[in-house]
Amino acid sequence: MTRPVTATPASSAPATPDALLNTYKRAPMEIVRGAGSELFDADGRAYLDFTAGIAVMALGHGDEGVANAMREALESGLTHVSNLFRTRPGELLAARLAELSFADRVFFCNSGAEANEGAFKFVRKWARAQGGPAKHEILSVRGAFHGRLFATLAATDRPQYRAPFRPLAGGVSIVERDLDELRTVLDPERVAALVIEPVQGEGGMRVLDAAFLRDVRALTRERGIALVLDEIQCGLGRTGTLFAYQQSGITPDVMTLAKPLAGGLPMGAILMTQDIADAMQPGDHGTTFGGGPFVAHVALHVLDRLADPRMLAHVREAGAWFGAALQSLQERSGRIRAVRGVGLMWGVDVTPSAADVIARARDRGLLLVSAGEHTIRFLPPLVITQDELARGLSIFEDALTSA
Ligand SMILES: *Cc1c(COP(=O)(O)O)cnc(C)c1O
Repeated sequence: MTRPVTATPASSAPATPDALLNTYKRAPMEIVRGAGSELFDADGRAYLDFTAGIAVMALGHGDEGVANAMREALESGLTHVSNLFRTRPGELLAARLAELSFADRVFFCNSGAEANEGAFKFVRKWARAQGGPAKHEILSVRGAFHGRLFATLAATDRPQYRAPFRPLAGGVSIVERDLDELRTVLDPERVAALVIEPVQGEGGMRVLDAAFLRDVRALTRERGIALVLDEIQCGLGRTGTLFAYQQSGITPDVMTLAKPLAGGLPMGAILMTQDIADAMQPGDHGTTFGGGPFVAHVALHVLDRLADPRMLAHVREAGAWFGAALQSLQERSGRIRAVRGVGLMWGVDVTPSAADVIARARDRGLLLVSAGEHTIRFLPPLVITQDELARGLSIFEDALTSA
């Protein structure tokens, strides 16, 4: 006998953040609804969302196609079966990611940090098989952000995130983002891999030079060191090509993805060449949730939409317009020290505190996120229109002028 089931909230008490661990400086309003590039709070106020859930909601909020994919996924009656069994959506998603990228093999997990942690394990095992036990070190570069777990934190250049949690994972360290320095420290006997974000996100929206990336690729290849690209923030269309590495003409050995991959559901992926994959065997790594049929089915839909050449052309055109508009704002404002970015991923160094400008923008109906004390990030949904970009920019200008 089946009984009707209704989802009833456990309590009708008003929501407060008091029972949540106090690790975030959350904005005070409560978000209750989303539509496209807009979010709405409990008082019915609308906000243009230039955060997209930190580069996650590439297709915007409340997207009909994503909602349909979720409904379809539910119709099978499968949300999770574990990796003890084969399921179709994950296999299809891996094949599609491989077809669209340099990769031969894919491992699914549940977040960005988890993708990088897995990648570090894979390259270590691969490197040891090539060069023996000493070849295990993982290097990242100045300004990097790779996550908040022990190994990814060791690769993350934020002293205030790291200090309270020492000791971090061993054999992971940060080096200067400089070719001469890399020539010195990339010792083929000891270094397993170099991990780099083609566009540094949390570290200040810094687009790494295509020539630098090509030199790094040549150097790592020559020395038998794996190149891991962290495209968790800059991948999947954000820069105007499906993957950021495609703009420099290089290919990595490993690439990590997460943020926008499953339309707002948690999912990460580690993409790799067959050579790296060959080092891994059953039992070497695992995850309970990773690559389940529900998230993978939704991600298949998201990937098709983001890989659409019209979507990528829109990101390039809207992004170029927005970048030029930010630069002309810099010329007239006097409160902007630098503008950096590509596609729909921009950072602006402002003279007032970023937190102050962000609060003022929020009061005026625009949501922004910082990347350091004086850097504001613009990460709108990729489906945002030029009109919405212009509207957000004029709110930003107003907020900046008032600060
Ligand atoms: C967000 C981010 C991560 C960490 O992802 P989580 O899902 O928060 O663990 C890692 N690398 C980059 C480049 C990111 O932007």
